[in-house]
Amino acid sequence: MSLAIQTAGLAKTYGGRPPVEALKPLTLEVAAGETFGLLGPNGAGKTTLVKLLLGLAHPTAGSATLFGAPIEDADARRPVGFLPEGHRFPPFLTGRDALDLFARMSGLEGAGRDARARELLALVRLEAAADRRVGTYSKGMLQRLGIAQALMHRPRLVFLDEPTDGVDPVGRREIRILIEQLRDDGVTLFLNSHLLSEVERVCTRVAILKDGRMVRDGTVDDLTRQGRAWTVTSTPLPAETRIALEDAVGETTERPDGLERYVVTMPDRVALNAALDALRSSGVEVEAVEPVRQSLEDLFVEVVTHDES
Ligand code: ATP
Repeated sequence: MSLAIQTAGLAKTYGGRPPVEALKPLTLEVAAGETFGLLGPNGAGKTTLVKLLLGLAHPTAGSATLFGAPIEDADARRPVGFLPEGHRFPPFLTGRDALDLFARMSGLEGAGRDARARELLALVRLEAAADRRVGTYSKGMLQRLGIAQALMHRPRLVFLDEPTDGVDPVGRREIRILIEQLRDDGVTLFLNSHLLSEVERVCTRVAILKDGRMVRDGTVDDLTRQGRAWTVTSTPLPAETRIALEDAVGETTERPDGLERYVVTMPDRVALNAALDALRSSGVEVEAVEPVRQSLEDLFVEVVTHDES
């Protein structure tokens, strides 16, 4: 597995009285091609981690690499793009001018520069507004332009800090589509966002930081599963089958179409399948079996407010 980001005991304490342990020793791996979401309440250490990885702050302990290159090495950041939170473009520039400026800063010259700006304007769907001043852009358009600048040099890893901040639902959807497009192109994405429903939709893996410590790390799928419970939809369950399955079957909801929904709790998938066999051999027709999940938001609130880990 090729790793885009790897940290080993990476930590940051800001000096001062008293000193602030913003990031406690963190060991984290983000695989190349992954869409990774970093979550945590205000002050959890998210920005500090991003700053360390981008060389904008220096660790007090530990180490980290980007695609195998140590973060102390400026070249480690060549394949990296960054959309900072609350970025600003000079309002008097047009979208095209702004991208041209970033193209120059990326070292692009001549026809290649114009072509790349055109390509990016098309990608973020700003072609029609390309010659309007940035000062007239909506928040969603500004965020899309910000993503375009982050992609200028075709980075393999892109940090997006609150990419949908202040953007309306239509704009958020457009940004989500863009993120999905980048993911499909194999770009590794590191997303920092408080909009958990967005994170849940686009990220394959998330980590939750709390008080500078990583308290959860896993796939969205694994983290949001509610133990070993499945919602089953089937034709009505005969009383004797329900009795045979004892406490494994929860309360039943009858649906207008005559089918029933109930939660089956089993220790594992093998036991679930045995229960389904028992249902089917008693004449029950199963229409759907879905794992019971909590939302990422529920998990986040639980971890941040109750979890002492
Ligand atoms: P938010 O969601 O509000 O952006 P965050 O998770 O990004 O928060 P950080 O900005 O990394 O959190 O801050 C972590 C802790 O470090 C906080 O207690 C913050 O006050 C402190 N901190 C951040 N930058 C500095 C600094 N330059 N000097 C001293 N303390 C700092």
